[in-house]
Amino acid sequence: MVEIPKTQKAVVFETNGGPLIYKDIPVPTPASDEILVNVKYSGVCHTDLHAWKGDWPLPTKLPLVGGHEGAGVVVGKGENVTNFEIGDYAGIKWLNGSCLGCEFCLKSAESNCPDAILSGYTHDGSFQQYATAKAVHAAKIPQGTDLAQIAPILCAGITVYKALKTSEAQPGNWVAITGAGGGLGTLAIQYAKAMGFRVIGIDTGDAKAEACKELGAEAFIDFATSKDLVKDVVAATHGGPHAVIHVAVSEKAIGVSTEYVRATGVIVLVGLPAGAYAKSEVFSHVVKSISIKGSYVGNRADTAEALDFFDRGLITCPIKIVGLSELPEVYELMEKGQIVGRYVLDNSK
Ligand code: NAD
Ligand code: ZN
Repeated sequence: MVEIPKTQKAVVFETNGGPLIYKDIPVPTPASDEILVNVKYSGVCHTDLHAWKGDWPLPTKLPLVGGHEGAGVVVGKGENVTNFEIGDYAGIKWLNGSCLGCEFCLKSAESNCPDAILSGYTHDGSFQQYATAKAVHAAKIPQGTDLAQIAPILCAGITVYKALKTSEAQPGNWVAITGAGGGLGTLAIQYAKAMGFRVIGIDTGDAKAEACKELGAEAFIDFATSKDLVKDVVAATHGGPHAVIHVAVSEKAIGVSTEYVRATGVIVLVGLPAGAYAKSEVFSHVVKSISIKGSYVGNRADTAEALDFFDRGLITCPIKIVGLSELPEVYELMEKGQIVGRYVLDNSK
């Protein structure tokens, strides 16, 4: 039997945008269909920053423990759980649970379930040492995996892999990734490459340019210094990318992509800038016959597939590890757009 303490360290906020308090809180008890995970490492996603600020039209639970890229070890489980044993490695994902019975769950669109439970948003997440998750939705992580390295796969990896599938890009096609130097972007470059696509990264600054090229982007355009972004992207991709994956937290990036995307191309919206609209000039939209699609995390099959790419050594998460108590500093850097890759929290500190 594993010793489970009564209390644990967590980062909690009581109001959106209010103080992020590092303190002791009770260890939750898993429900009959849940596992209790001793979270060792947790990635910090830009979604966690949106949740803390409360800038989306979907209220968070309050008080809230954020976080939804938690990798750890199963230390407890409810009496109906049959797919995890104590000691197994497990991942806490954004999609903590779904009803499994609605029209959307039946079609494998589990993230679109109206009763979806969201880690770090409607359910306390992975910025605590012990977190609960529905056993049927928790990610299976192979024993011996580096838990710090795999943490970002649990949201960023699954999300960009699904978005790339949604783009319907074909091997050899050009895929543009906006926000390419950030958490989702740096993984999107590698998944795209592993799936046989050619990548053009769009972001800003030398550090991000260098990281994007190192991870496999054939071209990089700095959106802040380019004098004509449309012209530069079209030139670098010999006629425009066949698909665009927007992980940038920018409304402007979306509008301009309708101009540089190749005819019949697909624009996939992933990033969620607050209050933003996707605008497209109708005449060109029709004549170029382009599509704009939304993509929202992934289902259980996408999860297993995305984790398998990682397991086969095709994806390296560019991570920087800091203590759980340092979450406020990470949010500050993220807000300023100064993070290359992903920060991962060591929940023991
Ligand atoms: P991040 O802060 O690590 O990266 C964002 C990047 O966008 C930064 O590198 C920034 O420099 C870049 N950027 C800003 N403006 C740009 C512009 N005009 N053109 C190109 N790049 C620009 O954030 P992240 O953790 O990668 O998350 C990105 C977004 O994706 C967030 O809005 C997050 O909530 C969202 N998200 C969506 C899903 C989903 O399922 N749809 C899942 C996870 C995250
Ligand atoms: Zn996320």
